[in-house]
Amino acid sequence: MADQPSLDDVVAATVVDPGSTHEFRLADRAQRNEELFPDKDQAKDSLKADAQAIDELQDALFAAQCGSLLVVLQGIDTAGKDGTTKAVFKYTSPLGVRVHPFGKPTDIELAHDYLWRVHQVAPRNGHIAVFNRSHYEDVLVVKVRNLAPSEKVEQRYEQINQFEKHLVENGTRVLKLMLHISKEEQGERLQERLDVPKKRWKFNPSDLEDRKLWDDYQDAYETMLRRCSTPWAPWYVVPSDSRSRRAAIAARLVRRELEAMDPQFPETDYRPEQFKID
Ligand code: AMP
Ligand code: MG
Repeated sequence: MADQPSLDDVVAATVVDPGSTHEFRLADRAQRNEELFPDKDQAKDSLKADAQAIDELQDALFAAQCGSLLVVLQGIDTAGKDGTTKAVFKYTSPLGVRVHPFGKPTDIELAHDYLWRVHQVAPRNGHIAVFNRSHYEDVLVVKVRNLAPSEKVEQRYEQINQFEKHLVENGTRVLKLMLHISKEEQGERLQERLDVPKKRWKFNPSDLEDRKLWDDYQDAYETMLRRCSTPWAPWYVVPSDSRSRRAAIAARLVRRELEAMDPQFPETDYRPEQFKID
């Protein structure tokens, strides 16, 4: 197999450095970065190796019960939240990974604070949870479409940082991936949803309303990345115009988180030779 880019190189190319968030500009980040994976086949090989490693690491995590992992996926419509989930967790046992999509809040959810629905589905010990959208919608769509007073939205960045700190201090690692695509690429993908019969169900006319607000969304994303990339839960911006590279980069970052947890199969408190199976 072709070499994989080192985990450090992948981090360096994608992290929003919590130490210099004031300098961060989303416009400085490429949506297409072929440096990490110069050719697509290399990206596919790397993805496969990492996806298989992620499965093994999750098995060990469950056996070790040494914490849990939350993967937050954010990105504008068509950025590839579903595709990334499918690819990165292709080999992971359904026993150990749960995917939670966050759509428009229900009446019951709206009757609670915005983190209520999120905390309920945070991953249990030994598990991985994938959030397809997340509490960050409450500073993205809610901000852009004025669904809450601006002073309430303003308070949320710090509330979210403290919430994530609470999770981390209680054993959940938080990996946040922003899937970054260009407006041109989104245009092509929306057109594809109209053209390809099997993709038509994904098309939602309201996506076109959001597309008209493209610049406002980019601004809201930039503010979110600046204000919520913290030492305990940094943001990573994943160049996502190329599907295969996007998944390969995401898989490297997920694998890195799990390896950092270093899950070890526990020692048993019995000697196997004590037992004889008839
Ligand atoms: P999809 O991910 O395509 O199924 O769409 C889910 C929709 O729910 C998106 O348009 C989101 O912006 C919207 N959504 C998610 N969370 C919220 C929220 N807290 N308030 C309003 N809309 C939301
Ligand atoms: Mg959608």
